[in-house]
Amino acid sequence: AARLFAQRQQLQSLLNQLHMSTENLCKVQALLRREMELGLAKETNVIASTRMLPSYVRSIPDGSERGDFLALDLGGTNFRVLLVQVHSQEQGGVHIFSEVYSIPPQVAQGTGTQLFDHIVTCIVDFQTKQGMMGQKLPLGFTFSFPCKQTSLDQGILVRWTKGFSASDCVGKDVVQLLREAVKRQQHFDLDVVAIVNDTVGTMMSCGYDDPNCEVGLIVGTGTNACYMEEMQNVGTVEGEEGRMCINMEWGAFGDNGCLEPFMTTFDQTVDKASINPGQQRFEKLISGMYLGEIVRHILLKLAGQGTLFRGQASPALQTKDLFPTKFLSVIESDGLAQRQVRAILEELGLRVSCEDGMMVREVCQVVSHRAAQLCGAAVAAVVEKIRENRALEQLEVTVGVDGTLYKLHPHFSQQVKETVKVLAPCCSVTFLQSEDGSGKGAALIAAVACRAA
Ligand code: ADP
Repeated sequence: AARLFAQRQQLQSLLNQLHMSTENLCKVQALLRREMELGLAKETNVIASTRMLPSYVRSIPDGSERGDFLALDLGGTNFRVLLVQVHSQEQGGVHIFSEVYSIPPQVAQGTGTQLFDHIVTCIVDFQTKQGMMGQKLPLGFTFSFPCKQTSLDQGILVRWTKGFSASDCVGKDVVQLLREAVKRQQHFDLDVVAIVNDTVGTMMSCGYDDPNCEVGLIVGTGTNACYMEEMQNVGTVEGEEGRMCINMEWGAFGDNGCLEPFMTTFDQTVDKASINPGQQRFEKLISGMYLGEIVRHILLKLAGQGTLFRGQASPALQTKDLFPTKFLSVIESDGLAQRQVRAILEELGLRVSCEDGMMVREVCQVVSHRAAQLCGAAVAAVVEKIRENRALEQLEVTVGVDGTLYKLHPHFSQQVKETVKVLAPCCSVTFLQSEDGSGKGAALIAAVACRAA
């Protein structure tokens, strides 16, 4: 019993490092607010860790959009090609036909030419399967990496994130790279009308059903958000009238070191072992690509000091990415038997006692709770800014959300909501999960673009 007590104490003192007090969450909220202001102003944009990139999307859909559109969705685990048919509500609303294609790592991390040739090959395959070769539909390209846009159909890649590193793309216009790849393909043409961040696509897609939807949020492989900002506050774009959707690129929040006080040695280790050390620091505290890794490093430490697994870490536990974030979802599910938690850990070659199982569960809970609270603090910063922009005492706003971590984790979404309630008490925030958000959103943006043209 004394040994058990000592183990519990070791666990608690380690997990205390990851505890976020309301006071600290307020600090994170205030820090993000400051980075937002810096990113929006022309003079300070370059020193902000959140780039606050203008999207050239000026309103959410009004429901009068019609037509057939192609959409591409590149930005995470899978690449998708979609045919999106936007009809009137009476004719059934939006219909989507899509195919998923994989982007092998050697393509994601190869040359830009290889990557874009692969993309075009997939589009040709899709059009052939849909019996629509020769048709040249307007295309919306959801491309979920930071891009500096100067118009709706031009986006200069700022940097790769989330495991992509194809050469000769950073600093280039991604739409141009796609058009050049199309030219290399014979008897084939495309009409690219918009490049769209997935956050913006998600907001637009939810905005089609809910006119209050003025924020888009992603918590999947990575994390990011966008929202409708007043043009007069957007120093990086000419014009004062109306609003524009701003892609915050909040994954990079903290890349200037401002989040250091809230980071643990485990976060530093995960960052150092990633393909982009020092970058996307906020994302590395929150999203699906990293939570499993944070847990794995904590478990390694606990095993190393003899608190867990009789002091023995297995080779699997010592291997990068062998503890995926979906394990957190499973281990934290309500009503899961201890036996099932142990089964997962035994799969990893660990010798697990009953007590080990319970402690691992606590580690998972603390890591995902911290992620959800940080995400909530960031959402609070955004909705509070919208409220202040409009000088409202009370703001009603909807956040369109996508991402597997948000959707499938048993407690994450609830904890985000609770945090927002505490940190933004004057905002009444509804979270709306998007379906096929980035594809549908890209098509709606293409529709608006075509109508304007
Ligand atoms: P993307 O963000 O790449 O477009 P997703 O939204 O599907 O795609 O997110 C994929 C991420 O979700 C992966 O990094 C994975 O770790 C995480 N994930 C997959 N399944 C689950 C799950 N059941 N619970 C929590 N996270 C999950």
